[in-house]
Amino acid sequence: MSARIEAPRGTLDALPAASGARDLVLRTTAEVAGVYGYGAIVTPTFESTELFRRTAGLGSDVVSKEMYTFEDRGNRSLTLRPEGTAGVARAYVEHGLHKTPQPVKAWYAGPMFRYAAPQKGRYREFWQVGFEAMGSADAGLDVEVIRLFVEIVDRLGLTGVRLELNSIGDRQCRPAYVEQLQGFLADHRSELDDDARAKAATSPLRVFDTKSPRVAELLAAAPTIGGSLCADCAAHFAEVRAVLDALGVVYEVKPTLVRGLDYYTRTVWEFVNDDLDASQSTVCAGGRYDYLIEEIGGQPTPGVGWAAGVERLALSLGDLEAQPEIDVFVAVDDPVRRTEALVALAALRSLGLRAETDYAGRSLKGQLTQAQRVGAQTTVIVRADGVTVRRRGADDIVVETIQEAVEKL
Ligand code: ATP
Ligand code: MG
Repeated sequence: MSARIEAPRGTLDALPAASGARDLVLRTTAEVAGVYGYGAIVTPTFESTELFRRTAGLGSDVVSKEMYTFEDRGNRSLTLRPEGTAGVARAYVEHGLHKTPQPVKAWYAGPMFRYAAPQKGRYREFWQVGFEAMGSADAGLDVEVIRLFVEIVDRLGLTGVRLELNSIGDRQCRPAYVEQLQGFLADHRSELDDDARAKAATSPLRVFDTKSPRVAELLAAAPTIGGSLCADCAAHFAEVRAVLDALGVVYEVKPTLVRGLDYYTRTVWEFVNDDLDASQSTVCAGGRYDYLIEEIGGQPTPGVGWAAGVERLALSLGDLEAQPEIDVFVAVDDPVRRTEALVALAALRSLGLRAETDYAGRSLKGQLTQAQRVGAQTTVIVRADGVTVRRRGADDIVVETIQEAVEKL
């Protein structure tokens, strides 16, 4: 036997028998996308490295430490996407979607790649579902995308998920605030960790993104952006909150909440599931990104959106039955009639019934055990001289042909 090859560190195999929770997340997201009028968008899993350099900001964790960057055979620098928004915005610009009715509303589901230290709920390849609404600065749209995730959470039946909300201002008010913050960070330099000191130098707002409880405690005394919003940003944030209140969406304003990526403006939020470990408890994060599209060469275009971690939502759901019980098991006692049985199997499935048969060469007894194991409501037993329809808890019915048996179902 050759040496075994294992999956790369930090990756995940989602096996068919354990796919219930994951499937439900993806299906529910697609349903809610339909109700809210978001169309599916598929963009490449790799993009020009430049796209992420420009959008995420050089000081970000993602760009500085976590990107899977490689050169292809034509010497192009490409990067496996660490997130979905940049690619969607690029597609918006590339295909001139500003000429179509605004806002453009799109959603996606797919794998993202980040070279980070793996742990439960944190992988190097993971899936996100995400929603983007581009071409409107209307506070009602911020609320729409937030409410959309609440709808997904409700349909999934998750109860422990709460919303944290903040506004991080815009070009008018952020620079003055950042100066204030830098002053505070300089005064407390010795109390910061290396990570916070590095961020203080490149992108001070991101120090709030710290994973260190000690630094977080220190930052509780730092000036917050909320106190420095300009009139426009303050009015926008007030409207977001008023509409959320009107919709009965419960949230907590968290003045230290920021996003790890540079292009966010104004409204930012996270949905946290406290039932998960703290390091993996953020199930969804989003915000407004009014400067992103011009950053990549489009006309100034506001946008808002979020991404949710599929594995973290699946973890939140716990183990779910991967496959529902089946309706009909077709057992074959007479090998001569096997092809006939397979034709009947296909016909049953065409009728929308969940039907199965044996592909493991089991004896009739083995097949009947298997039928029970998969929870078959009905077993059709194809014998040399007839067909038996055996329903759970009912008497056997014996008919002559498989066709007749199908009609009995
Ligand atoms: P975190 O602070 O947990 O690292 P983040 O700020 O990097 O998250 P985003 O880039 O906003 O997260 O991604 C949105 C969501 O995608 C996260 O809230 C999380 O649910 C999920 N996610 C992010 N990184 C990972 C990962 N490495 N493995 C699994 N899920 C992830
Ligand atoms: Mg991260």
